[in-house]
Amino acid sequence: MSVFSTPDFADHEQVVFCSDDKSGLKAIIAIHNSNLGPALGGCRMWPYANEDEATRDVLRLSRGMTYKSAMANLALGGGKSVVIGNPRTDKTPALLEALARAIDRLGGRYIAAEDSGTSVADMKLMSQFTQHVCGVRDKPAEHGTRSGDPSPSTAYGTLVGIRAAVKERLGRDSLDGLRVAVQGLGHVGLDLARRLKAAGAELWVTDLYREPLLAAGRELGATVVAPEEIFGLDVDVFAPCALGAVLNDRTIAELKAKIVAGAANNQLAEPRHGTALMNRGILYAPDYVINAGGIIDVYYERTGNFDPAALRQHIEGIHDSLLEIFTRARAEERPTGEVADAIAEERFRR
Ligand code: NAD
Repeated sequence: MSVFSTPDFADHEQVVFCSDDKSGLKAIIAIHNSNLGPALGGCRMWPYANEDEATRDVLRLSRGMTYKSAMANLALGGGKSVVIGNPRTDKTPALLEALARAIDRLGGRYIAAEDSGTSVADMKLMSQFTQHVCGVRDKPAEHGTRSGDPSPSTAYGTLVGIRAAVKERLGRDSLDGLRVAVQGLGHVGLDLARRLKAAGAELWVTDLYREPLLAAGRELGATVVAPEEIFGLDVDVFAPCALGAVLNDRTIAELKAKIVAGAANNQLAEPRHGTALMNRGILYAPDYVINAGGIIDVYYERTGNFDPAALRQHIEGIHDSLLEIFTRARAEERPTGEVADAIAEERFRR
């Protein structure tokens, strides 16, 4: 594979291929853009079918982080790392140490955080070998402390974003009685469902596993549906909080919701699906704008001044960022994702 000519290579500043014989580490670290600050982004471990697939993933994800941090007004650039391997069978302390040392050699140009296949515990282990990891420190929370996991902040930001979308599309401030379908009840989705319930929303939920569904049914009075049924429900908001690429030709045709606003990364299967949503009159809250609570959280941890009130206020900025995007998209008759990209580019290319 030629990296420079692949379509996902978007003027990346630096792409580093790292290996370590002893531990079996094979990793790629991509720094897309560091104009606004060091490149912060998750470290994903996945059994990629081949190196091309891993390279494409890291290039696409690191670029997305540049846009996410710029939109969230953070002094951060965009980067990401991927480890080729099965996190259940191949992840060893030696491999994580080798990865940490590879990150350390970049001298702080890239800062890692947890992602699919890695955990807060992995980041803690890596922090013994490099200071350039985050999402590791316990933080003050409403009731005592919480772990370094940024998911609660992502869920809060997504709630804030849903409020903005409801204001724009439905012309109301309250979420009372709002009908919301949540796809995926993992770290973010279940927390978001709880927050929506507390705000008065009525919930429909799905997941691949029984446990979170039982919890949501029992605790939140949510209606549980099968995974394939979540798209066609007669609801106000569809909140994707599971996988990427869930908005495609088939699912968009099924949607009855007036708003798509959820935490999942890379929700549009292809950029043209942003236009398809617009043409159907469905308001789309661009994924990297609405799910920025987590990166804002780790940024505050990184600065060493973890002030919960300042963090909360920063996350609440997602509301106005989205309203700006929605207003511009309406005036220019353009898909919201395109408008978000243009605003982010104005910031990080300046
Ligand atoms: P998670 O792995 O904890 O939860 C994902 C959930 O989705 C799991 O419970 C899984 O069973 C379920 N799921 C998978 N496929 C499904 C399907 N086809 N139908 C229904 N449910 C399905 O992940 P998470 O940390 O909650 O993150 C959720 C999404 O939000 C991901 O796309 C992630 O990239 C994105 N995100 C997370 C954060 C964060 O702070 N955790 C930040 C930004 C973006």
